[in-house]
Amino acid sequence: MTSHTQTMRAAVLGGYGEPLAVTGVPRPMAGPGQILVRLQACGVCHTDVHIWRGESVPPHAPSPFVMGHEGVGRVEALGEGVSGWAVGDGVGVPWIHDTCCRCDECLDGYESFCQHHRAHGLNVPGAFAEYVVCDARFAVALPETIDPVTTAPLMCAGITAYGAVKRAGLKAGESAIVFGCGGLGLYAVQIASRLGVRVLAVDRDPVKLEIARIYGAAETEIADSGLSSRLAARGEKYHACINFAPTAATWEAMVAGIRPRGRIVAAAMVFQPVPLIQEWLTATGVVITGTSVGTRQEMRELVDMHVRKPLETTVETIKLEEVSNALAVLEKGQSKGRFVIRFAG
Ligand SMILES: [Zn+2]
Ligand SMILES: [Zn+2]
Repeated sequence: MTSHTQTMRAAVLGGYGEPLAVTGVPRPMAGPGQILVRLQACGVCHTDVHIWRGESVPPHAPSPFVMGHEGVGRVEALGEGVSGWAVGDGVGVPWIHDTCCRCDECLDGYESFCQHHRAHGLNVPGAFAEYVVCDARFAVALPETIDPVTTAPLMCAGITAYGAVKRAGLKAGESAIVFGCGGLGLYAVQIASRLGVRVLAVDRDPVKLEIARIYGAAETEIADSGLSSRLAARGEKYHACINFAPTAATWEAMVAGIRPRGRIVAAAMVFQPVPLIQEWLTATGVVITGTSVGTRQEMRELVDMHVRKPLETTVETIKLEEVSNALAVLEKGQSKGRFVIRFAG
């Protein structure tokens, strides 16, 4: 029997920007409709850096304030009224803990745009801990065969890339430019390529472009000051431009590279304004939109794709005690890939 006195190890945020304290906290219990997950792995996302730094402050901080929203583990216990899950099942802990399930976005199948959603590691305790509680409706079913460490980043980075490719409305035979070949962009290159889309990958770093080629990009372009004029000079334009680069600097190149009626998708969080001439919209019919993570249906499609052939990413495995250091490295932009915590046992 689970008792209130049981504890777990967790990396707790005490003050913004301070190292997380790896300490014993009460082990949570699964309430009605919830499942308790024992973590095997959890990825560290750039959003965690924003939360750690106090740049994304929740209206009500979770208690304990444990970040982490790229968890993979096993079902440890079921709360009252939960069906469809069994103890021992493989389970993913994504960014979305739950949504309101009542607004137009939720009812129309666009739940990732629900303005009342709650996120793991921001609004409710996250997965930088040995255990976390999920809403059974939003937990991600994972088959036995997956590797927890390399699957963890799919729970945010992977689904964000998948959601962006879907948001771009890309179909087999179409073409897309993926701007920014960090973890998310490289997932998008693989996902779009597997869907039969011809991908042009863009990044400042030639090493990342080489990886993009290996992952399926048909062409690459270095993101230098001449990029926009090179794209403008091309006869052929692209059906979609997806931006994963956290900068407004790619805007001009997206305008230069997009076809009439093409789709520009903002996936990176860029806070600086970009110049937009409305007459260009009237003349071209280009659609400009944005995306954030993805829906449960998209997550299911992504997991199916991953099970058929694992989506690749460069992973650096760390211990829970090393998560503060990983956040600092991410903040400086010095990571070589995705940091993933591997839990002992
Ligand atoms: Zn994330
Ligand atoms: Zn909603």
